[in-house]
Amino acid sequence: MLKITIVAGARPNFIKIAPIVNAISRQKSEGKALNYRLVHTGQHYDYQLSGSFFEELNIPKPDANLGIGSGSQAEQTAKIMMAFERELLENPCDLVLVVGDVTSTLACSITAKKLQIPVAHVEAGIRSFDFAMPEEINRMVTDSISDYFFTTTQEASNYLVSIGKNPENIHFVGNVMIDTLKNFENEFKKPTFFDENFLSPKKYFVLTLHRPSNVDAEHQLNELVRFICEKAQSIPVVFPIHPRTKKKFATAELPKNLILTKPLGYLEFNYLVKNALGILTDSGGITEEATVMRIPCITLRENTERPETISIGTNELAGKNLTLIEVLMQKIIKNDWKKGEIPAKWDGKSAERIVEILEEIKP
Ligand code: UDP
Repeated sequence: MLKITIVAGARPNFIKIAPIVNAISRQKSEGKALNYRLVHTGQHYDYQLSGSFFEELNIPKPDANLGIGSGSQAEQTAKIMMAFERELLENPCDLVLVVGDVTSTLACSITAKKLQIPVAHVEAGIRSFDFAMPEEINRMVTDSISDYFFTTTQEASNYLVSIGKNPENIHFVGNVMIDTLKNFENEFKKPTFFDENFLSPKKYFVLTLHRPSNVDAEHQLNELVRFICEKAQSIPVVFPIHPRTKKKFATAELPKNLILTKPLGYLEFNYLVKNALGILTDSGGITEEATVMRIPCITLRENTERPETISIGTNELAGKNLTLIEVLMQKIIKNDWKKGEIPAKWDGKSAERIVEILEEIKP
């Protein structure tokens, strides 16, 4: 019996593990000798960033919740490592599976490896080479000690080969975040504020911001949001505001076309994206979802670890360049945007591939 401990800690992790947990359950019900234990680190803990995803995406209740809560990057890393070490000693497994690039990904991969448990990294090999982003450090450290690599693109696989990883352990399987999108696209639901604010399809922008480089400097954040609203002309801008961003955002004298909401559940958020005229975001995952739904997307970052969303998909980088943001918004408003294609193997079957491979190699 192959025993896999799956780690999830923050919002994008929950969306990525949902199809993996399902695929294991399905293969188990078909008689395959494998089982999983789901460990939630508690890095994100409030309902809007955690519980709602378990409910909507039918993710079973975690077998363990390490309950580590908030803190600095170092505090969270240390607390997760201490709690996850106890968890692994009490519940031995054959493999630890981590996803993405959050603090929990880094902390749990190091902990497992030091206990000599093999580590599989899902979404391995992507790089922005921007060390101002904590996620980039998490990606590099996790890949440096992982044993098995599951990638979203052939380029990510090639990169891992170029840094000396054994090609036998690298598997280009596609994108598990897109598995969830495909699994739930028929269940997307209209948020209640949609009609209340007289929104209609293709007649609003969606804005999300949560990266420290965009939201930690109060003045810059407030200026950016107000600039975007002004350049949207009278088109509404829906802004589901992340808790980190909310702390810095001034709510006095809001632009008339700004619709501020709490962070949305997955089904409501992707309903909004699917029907939007365009997206402005600093999230990585949203650029992938916009690509698959073929919605124009402007990334408010200087770089991306997901270049395929630009070269193949509907994404463009604007960074903090206000002139460029305005030019790109104009292109969206004038319906003058590239159509975009869907990257290879972003087909909804990535988790099945991962589980089949793990079953075969029996780490
Ligand atoms: N998301 C959501 N509600 C929101 C904003 C985002 O459900 O209000 C989802 C979005 O569809 C995507 C994921 O959260 O699947 C992206 O997470 P986040 O932006 O926190 O992380 P990143 O992708 O930047 O690592």
